[in-house]
Amino acid sequence: MARTTRKLSTDKNPTRKKRSVHTKTTPNKSEFGSGTRAHYEQVMTPNYAPMPIIPVRGKGSIVWDEDGKRYLDFAAGIATNSLGHAHPLLCKTITAQAKKIWHVSNLFVNVPAVELAQRLCDMTFAERVFFANSGSEANEAALKLARRYAFDQFGENPAENRKESIIAFDNSFHGRTFFTVCVGGQPKYSDGFGPKPHGIVHLPFNNSEALEKAVDQSTCAVILEPIQGEGGVVPANKEFVRTARELCDYHRALLIFDEVQTGVGRSGCLYQYQKLGITPDILTTAKGLGGGFPISAMLTTEAIANSLSVGSHGSTLGGNPLACAVANQVLEIIGNQKMLDAVTARGMQLKQGLEAINQRSHAFSAIRGEGLLLGCELQGLWQHRARDILRDCLKHGLVMLMAGTNVLRLAPALTISAAEITQGLAALEAALGEMESE
Ligand SMILES: *Cc1c(COP(=O)(O)O)cnc(C)c1O
Repeated sequence: MARTTRKLSTDKNPTRKKRSVHTKTTPNKSEFGSGTRAHYEQVMTPNYAPMPIIPVRGKGSIVWDEDGKRYLDFAAGIATNSLGHAHPLLCKTITAQAKKIWHVSNLFVNVPAVELAQRLCDMTFAERVFFANSGSEANEAALKLARRYAFDQFGENPAENRKESIIAFDNSFHGRTFFTVCVGGQPKYSDGFGPKPHGIVHLPFNNSEALEKAVDQSTCAVILEPIQGEGGVVPANKEFVRTARELCDYHRALLIFDEVQTGVGRSGCLYQYQKLGITPDILTTAKGLGGGFPISAMLTTEAIANSLSVGSHGSTLGGNPLACAVANQVLEIIGNQKMLDAVTARGMQLKQGLEAINQRSHAFSAIRGEGLLLGCELQGLWQHRARDILRDCLKHGLVMLMAGTNVLRLAPALTISAAEITQGLAALEAALGEMESE
């Protein structure tokens, strides 16, 4: 495959040629046809393994691939496209803002960001908001803030009793920046990138006893997902979350809720903490916030936010006017009881449909989740074959998600209709049946 690329062959500087120890293998894009799967593999880093189809267009909960085949979308990105594809109001909002101003940096006040922060404060416990671009970055900010707050409040503690321990849970997922991936409870994602940051402790999820033993004066923060998403759609017990709240209060540690996946209406309330009736000190939100456009936020109280003094943290593109305008529109549409009740109703329909499928097929050992974030744990001949099932679903015109190799994850747009859910369930049952007859 050794080839001299156009760039190197026209390089007039002979010393540069000599220094180039690697021979580039990048082909011209014409070689595979632009944008094909083969082309993808020639130009992208190999850290993803995309599905065989290539979606090129979407409307609501329907997507079409490049051959014009139609699919029902039970994935909504990865629980990101909260209002489906090409929502008319989001398209209108983003176009209008693009024509006004789309980036000014955080050296200036931008109006859509202030409006979005006000909206988030009005709708939640928050008094202060920090914007970033991804869930990882929001969690990175939350963890850094927790460490800095502990340092500001208790910095004089002796070295052996520094308030710096972060308690997280097995199978949790908090992102892919190095700090957040090390806090996450899936070592396979952080192994081999060491040395890892210190002061992170992992405990079994939903185990109050283990938590009681672990939290003490050296605890800086406890971070949890109210429903573990990537870890298999596992809801936290209310009693466990209450224990975490009480222990944090007693030991003056901060409680961080990672609502990157559960937030913005997905679980049937705006944020899952509201349903639990247990308020964190810091909350992160991302996936659904921009309806698929990149934006994330870290919410907290004024007292805690004060530890982020001028210059202590930042993000160049975070909270840009384009993203904030879109998120304002998303919250305008989702942040009312009628919409949230519809999510709950559709979620119940979906869950009941999955239970009915299971009565006939016995493919699932558990069906979990809240609202439109559901997971089906696989058993029998379907065990650990989530990826195969996803491929079969595509054949039957359904886009699905998995959460690990043994859980099918369903996270359709919050705007999905009852009829679309019925159709999607039929496609899922057909795909499961196909595997049975193999
Ligand atoms: C997806 C996810 C993240 C990471 O978000 P990115 O936007 O990929 O950085 C963090 N926490 C939870 C709970 C998530 O589901």
